[in-house]
Amino acid sequence: MAPPVAAAKALLARLVAFDTTSHKSNLPLVSFVEDYLRQHGIESTRVPTADGQKASLFATIGPPGVGGIALSGHTDVVPVTGQSWDTDPFTVIERDGRLYGRGTCDMKGYLACVLAMVPELRARKLGTPIHIAFSYDEEVGCTGVRPMIGELGQSLPLPRLVFVGEPTTMAVVDAHKGPMRWVVRVTGKAAHSALPHLGVNAVTHAGYLLGELARIEEELKERNPNPRFDPPYTTLQVTQLEGGTASNIVPAACWFGWEIRRLPGFDATALDRRVRRFAAEHCLPKMQRAAPETGIGIDITNEVPAFQADSGSGIVPLALKLAGQNETFAVCYATEASLFQAGGAPAVVCGPGNIAQAHTPNEFIGVAELEKCLRFLGRLADWAGG
Ligand SMILES: [Zn+2]
Repeated sequence: MAPPVAAAKALLARLVAFDTTSHKSNLPLVSFVEDYLRQHGIESTRVPTADGQKASLFATIGPPGVGGIALSGHTDVVPVTGQSWDTDPFTVIERDGRLYGRGTCDMKGYLACVLAMVPELRARKLGTPIHIAFSYDEEVGCTGVRPMIGELGQSLPLPRLVFVGEPTTMAVVDAHKGPMRWVVRVTGKAAHSALPHLGVNAVTHAGYLLGELARIEEELKERNPNPRFDPPYTTLQVTQLEGGTASNIVPAACWFGWEIRRLPGFDATALDRRVRRFAAEHCLPKMQRAAPETGIGIDITNEVPAFQADSGSGIVPLALKLAGQNETFAVCYATEASLFQAGGAPAVVCGPGNIAQAHTPNEFIGVAELEKCLRFLGRLADWAGG
């Protein structure tokens, strides 16, 4: 049986009140969850950062040991800076069946449902353990969950299956694209702009590279499209750019950031090689003939694998059964699901709320979404109780 939605709403209000914007510590929230679990007789394990400012939290309800189902979510939220909110983002306001507040949708609504389910799960004689796996720093490239995944099968039990509760309106998502990000730093040589032959223009050479990226972007639209995704191809975007210091100086420095969001099965190493080769063949010889100290640095800054659910694990049929659905979906945003799967724990994405409300001002989750999620978790409890 699912717990009443009132319990989830009360927990959501508590969770949202902790400002866990990714650059801040999540420890006050972690302590709150630890205390809550302890009140229900459950001990949890922290996986802290090296500087001790943040931590993931892992806990097991039911029989100890390996296997079981993990309910996974991230505790951090995106900033409210620069967004115009009608209400205080860190105070949950209920209006017209919606709960407004930063993180209500992405993804404290899910965390609240999971925690609201704890008394019910405790009251049962679970045959299969249910694990809680809460991470940090998801919103800055799924970085925080990685040390916790590294402990699965080591100091923490390896779940047999993982449900990642990112907002899907409780649809079952069995595939997502995987972002990969680069920063390119072009080092030229400054000169008076009236004497450009004495310098090396970093912005111009960055421009050659940008042209190559634009060509690749167009080529990718034609390559092995997958109609399950919208858009159905691997996308490439230049996302940031900065260069030059004054209108009369040949710019000595330019940097830009770019990313791809690749389909499952896409070979990113070939693309990475192609960009490096272009820099080495089309930019560097000319630059270094003029000034040997010039150069181009190309660094991968973040990578989350694309996700395709493990068809042999049984997780998709189970998720469909618990969600009362008969169809799966693919999405373009990344989640921690692919990282869990790479760590040996097959995953699927299914959580309350609509991704369209994530990261926006006046973010909200519908109360009906929380109710759907609680029903899902109630069915999971029935299944695990068996
Ligand atoms: Zn999220």
